[in-house]
Amino acid sequence: MNETLTASTSPQSTSLRKRILTGDRPTGQLHLGHYVGSLRNRVALQHEYETYILIADVQALTDNFERPEILRRNIRQVVLDYLAVGLDPQKCAFVVQSLIPEIAELTIFYLNLVTLARVERNPTVKTEIQQKFGNEVPLGFVCYPVSQAADITAFGAHLVPVGDDQKPMIEQCREIVGRFNRLYGETLVMPEGMYGEISRLPGTDGQAKMGKSLGNAISLADDEATVTQKVMSMFTDPNRLTGKEPGTVEGNPVFTYHDAFNPNRERVEELKELYRRGGENEKGKPLLGDVQVKRELANVLNEMLEPIRTRRAEFARDETYVWDVIRDGTQRGKERAAEVMDDVRSAMKIDYGSVE
Ligand code: ATP
Ligand code: MG
Repeated sequence: MNETLTASTSPQSTSLRKRILTGDRPTGQLHLGHYVGSLRNRVALQHEYETYILIADVQALTDNFERPEILRRNIRQVVLDYLAVGLDPQKCAFVVQSLIPEIAELTIFYLNLVTLARVERNPTVKTEIQQKFGNEVPLGFVCYPVSQAADITAFGAHLVPVGDDQKPMIEQCREIVGRFNRLYGETLVMPEGMYGEISRLPGTDGQAKMGKSLGNAISLADDEATVTQKVMSMFTDPNRLTGKEPGTVEGNPVFTYHDAFNPNRERVEELKELYRRGGENEKGKPLLGDVQVKRELANVLNEMLEPIRTRRAEFARDETYVWDVIRDGTQRGKERAAEVMDDVRSAMKIDYGSVE
């Protein structure tokens, strides 16, 4: 069974190290959700895996085709975020998707292996359609999971570190790989998803997911005052009006962030306990008000983000460095994708280009 193929027995695992493919849409600066959902894993794994990080501008066009300038502007910003969190361009190839035409070719081939009903069933796409389009849904958008399968397989990736919203995409990709290999012979590597410890960070507005395009994100590049202001205006327990009532910790994003980022576990437990209990002191003031919980969170976040901001500012000073890194990474990505494309064409017996 193709689905049970392990990475180590897959046909393209000729290089010594296994490969990672992951990426981001250049729709804005990266945020805390990316950090816990995917970036932390990438930084840890880059030493062990041959890593390709796709700056998915073609995918971002599916809901930004009317404003392509957004992508152009954000490619550099996203790469600055990569460098700032510690991704090493020697170890990771930063690849711009639109510069790899092999991905578009693969997408066309894969579209035949997926039914319309199947793409319409994708729960992440369904949610995003509601958020973004209503009834006028571009075909390109509905089909982006197929194009994402092409992203993953174009580099022969074994492992895909992503957030929880990407689970349906990994599933779709694995189905396509299985179908392709059954039809045309064992060619593509069967990828596995890898999910962060906190694989879906909620937004500051309490929505299920922090997203760049949703206006509810704390960016890695936000300055101290902005982080503090965003935290202070965060959604908490809507039933806790004065801070004296017992509050709810579960599903309260301020506590979710404390859990995700506060290294002082003891203090987090103490805060939770006080919050749940409620009550007032002898002066009639709340024992633990929302403001205090938020102030401590803002401090934790600012402390964590400070070295990231400093590194980001250092890399940003050099105008040409980031584009040099992108050009180099994209070249490496192109070489890898060309190898995979040759294998695919010959498996599908459409390798006429090499007919003598
Ligand atoms: P957009 O709103 O433009 O879709 P986004 O914030 O969803 O942007 P993407 O570029 O779509 O970011 O996602 C890049 C990666 O980050 C994916 O692996 C995704 O699962 C992960 N990710 C995004 N948001 C979160 C989140 N809130 N929590 C955990 N992981 C996340
Ligand atoms: Mg997204």
